[in-house]
Amino acid sequence: MTETLDIKITKTNHSRLQETDFNNLQFGKTFSDHMFVADYENGEWKNFQIVPYGEVSFSPAISALHYGQSFFEGIKAYKHADGQVSVFRPDKNAARFNKSAERLCMPQLPEEIFVQSIAAVVDVDRDWVPSKAHHSMYIRPFMFATDPFLGVQPSSTYKFMVLLGPVGPYFSKTLRVKVETFFTRAAEGGMGYAKSSGNYGGAMLAGKRATEQGFDQVIWTDAKNHEYVEEMGAANVMFVLDGVLITPSTRDTILDGVTRDTVLTLAREWGMPVEERRISVAEIIEGAKTGKLTDAFGAGTAATIAPVGSISYNGEEYFLIDPKEREFSQKVLKELDAIKYGRVADTHGWNYLV
Ligand code: PMP
Repeated sequence: MTETLDIKITKTNHSRLQETDFNNLQFGKTFSDHMFVADYENGEWKNFQIVPYGEVSFSPAISALHYGQSFFEGIKAYKHADGQVSVFRPDKNAARFNKSAERLCMPQLPEEIFVQSIAAVVDVDRDWVPSKAHHSMYIRPFMFATDPFLGVQPSSTYKFMVLLGPVGPYFSKTLRVKVETFFTRAAEGGMGYAKSSGNYGGAMLAGKRATEQGFDQVIWTDAKNHEYVEEMGAANVMFVLDGVLITPSTRDTILDGVTRDTVLTLAREWGMPVEERRISVAEIIEGAKTGKLTDAFGAGTAATIAPVGSISYNGEEYFLIDPKEREFSQKVLKELDAIKYGRVADTHGWNYLV
């Protein structure tokens, strides 16, 4: 890490901590007392500030609103039994942040600014990091274009902000999912590998239709023929087929997930056979029919390890074994939690202590 960021801190004179019900946290609804803000102007990042959480004002002509020059990240901080707080692998998110920025013609944000700004605001609001099991502090860094100009071209000014909010478990149940064969999340040459805001707006209708049909999530397939599995909702998807952990290989239609990488790393260390490759819908359905598909789950920061209970395809629903009996996902979830909450040694250097 290079020199420390010069951050101006203005604290709130009315903390909402005491009036927040930590027993009823809905993902994304509760925000901590403070947020981080920085500006990009004349080719440099400046005005690093921590201020009370609240509204920001800008011109109604900013290109973030009109043309979607906007993207984000999702990270979590965890409280250990001894009271320490750690952020999980923020360097990976910093790298992905810059990949998203590049794809959207937005400025790079040096890794040290990204990591230090997160650490600084988490430190100010460390009392907001829940200590309850399976709870954490969700961290939402994002960047958006602020030129008040309706021309379709990259903005020259931007804001980088970080919001924080305590969260409980994201999915509390086993998921009923459908293979999406009409809508597309990402196409080759598109921006599926970036966390651009537009990817999520564009995915909502498929999610809405799926919910109307009684499903919890969609399994996205390739844009060309809907023949290959890509992701699940806003998470990567992983399977254990014939004893092998398989997941779609990363490409420009797939977000390179931090959880995905973490799970693959642990599996390889445990000697589990692992394959990152193209996975056809046909082989997953065949595996579900024959019982060779012994595990299926979504992997993501918000979702953690989200077990798939059934997969529907062409009107047929295929049920998988009870999640409690799944060896791999149970083991990996336990180990992930143990690492993040500091219950085992952090041999990989994944916990960034605040
Ligand atoms: N795919 C998509 C489309 C996502 O939005 C996310 C969540 N960030 C993931 C995968 C999982 O990525 P990560 O493990 O880094 O949260």
